[in-house]
Amino acid sequence: MRFIDYVTKQDPSGETTWKAVCVSGDEVECGAASPVLGGDEAANDWMAEHTAQTGHRRYKRIFEDYALVEPK
Ligand SMILES: [Zn+2]
Repeated sequence: MRFIDYVTKQDPSGETTWKAVCVSGDEVECGAASPVLGGDEAANDWMAEHTAQTGHRRYKRIFEDYALVEPK
């Protein structure tokens, strides 16, 4: 096995998706979750709106993309 002969890059034809989950709360997390969104701006907008409505300020962000592994 020689892993060094490969390089990993983001697949430009693959979709990148963002999701935010509100984890505010002392004992029980709020748990409000955004839909799967097509960009970080949409995720930021969702979080800003949730903060404006609830005062919650702490989120977990989930980012997904596609990767390609190619010979060097
Ligand atoms: Zn919340």
